[in-house]
Amino acid sequence: MNNEIYQWSRLSHTERQAVLARPAISESALLSQQVSHIIKQVKANGDDALYDFTEKFDGVKLNTLTVDAAQVEAAKKRLTTTRFNAIASAYANIKRFHQAQVSADIRVETTPGVVCTLKTEAIESVGLYIPAGSASLPSTVLMLGVPAQLANCPRRVLVCPPNKNGQLADEILVAAALCEIDEIYRVGGAQACAALAFGTETIAPVNKIFGPGNKYVTEAKKQLSQQVNGFAIDMPAGPSEVLVIADANANASFVAADLLSQAEHGVDSQVILLSDNQVLIEAVQVALAEQLKTLSRADIARQALKQSRLILTKDLAQAVTVSNSYGPEHLIVQTDNAPQLLTELRNAGSIFVGAYSPESAGDYASGTNHVLPTYGYSKVISSLSLADFSRRYTVQEISRQGLSNLAQCICELTDAEGLDAHQRAVTIRLETPLAQVLNN
Ligand code: NAD
Repeated sequence: MNNEIYQWSRLSHTERQAVLARPAISESALLSQQVSHIIKQVKANGDDALYDFTEKFDGVKLNTLTVDAAQVEAAKKRLTTTRFNAIASAYANIKRFHQAQVSADIRVETTPGVVCTLKTEAIESVGLYIPAGSASLPSTVLMLGVPAQLANCPRRVLVCPPNKNGQLADEILVAAALCEIDEIYRVGGAQACAALAFGTETIAPVNKIFGPGNKYVTEAKKQLSQQVNGFAIDMPAGPSEVLVIADANANASFVAADLLSQAEHGVDSQVILLSDNQVLIEAVQVALAEQLKTLSRADIARQALKQSRLILTKDLAQAVTVSNSYGPEHLIVQTDNAPQLLTELRNAGSIFVGAYSPESAGDYASGTNHVLPTYGYSKVISSLSLADFSRRYTVQEISRQGLSNLAQCICELTDAEGLDAHQRAVTIRLETPLAQVLNN
């Protein structure tokens, strides 16, 4: 565990950058080469490459990539009622929150006779990446599957790395069934992303890939979006990050529990505490060491905590400035004035306000989406929502009178730009007698 307490005001600009550097993106040149190799192999060798990489990285030799309906039915039967109910209850809350995001077409008559419409249409085929390298994440199935279902994307494809027995967790299959996903493949990592982009003998390509993943998955999504025309990605949702802002009155055990809930995700998770109170930071250090002893994934958490940052700020305003410049994926605010601080906090994928809003609530069951931008992209990229599963396009219907109303404006601007043909497309219509147009 990194027990150093950094005093923000005493750090130089370079030291501040080093303290907030993201561990997951430090080895980018090597990572880029590794991922590029995987992508090339999948493009050239299709299914064969998928089987080879699954054996190499997931340690299992598969006979088929496809999960069939009988396996999903068997998973449903094996799952306990309590566990099924928990998945169904999370599903219902996530659905409630995302259903409220359904948007109607927008139709505006901007000038008499000129009607502009903004239409929303589901993306035809979507690939949903469910991470399972370090921990199997059925919650992610719901976070991707529910909006894809509500958006009515006609083809919804789930990919997920198999476990050592070559299977996907029962919870993954049951969550997929609730979201009416019936195309499921046992493949993960960069190779799964490449298969969804280029297609293989078994997996037909999709239009857009969604989902979080480790650094290989995130790098693959980035490279593929640049290589395949028309192939889109949701966002860079890489190794998880949490930043907690806590004051003197925060409960140190709650804060430690939140930091650990992130640290246990993976060795490359990033965990940051900002506080204006040294006593609180020291109490959190003690609570971290205590709680760490009881975790089943203590080894992973311990490694992630080597990169953790405990930062003492001169006041909460400085903590807000640091948080805004870091742009965490998750931001937890445990201060007396949390709701007021909220008005100052700009950049975060999801914000958890007050002592009783742990990140775990948003990760599983409150209803918000847990697929969130990492690497500081929260400054420019939104948290995943229903809108990401559709595309918007415009339609315009203009009457003769409407075009006449626009003509002077258009012709003045086409003169300014020297684009005669554009002007003619307007004037030719208005100069042609209506009777002649109808005769055609
Ligand atoms: P994963 O499914 O993302 O990755 C596992 C795959 O990585 C394996 O199947 C393998 O193909 C590939 N891999 C492993 N070692 C490799 C190597 N040396 N070379 C090439 N490929 C290799 O599962 P994971 O590893 O558990 O990672 C999940 C990640 O998702 C975590 O970092 C977690 O923090 C993050 N996460 C992020 C969000 C978000 O919204 N940002 C949400 C949930 C989880």
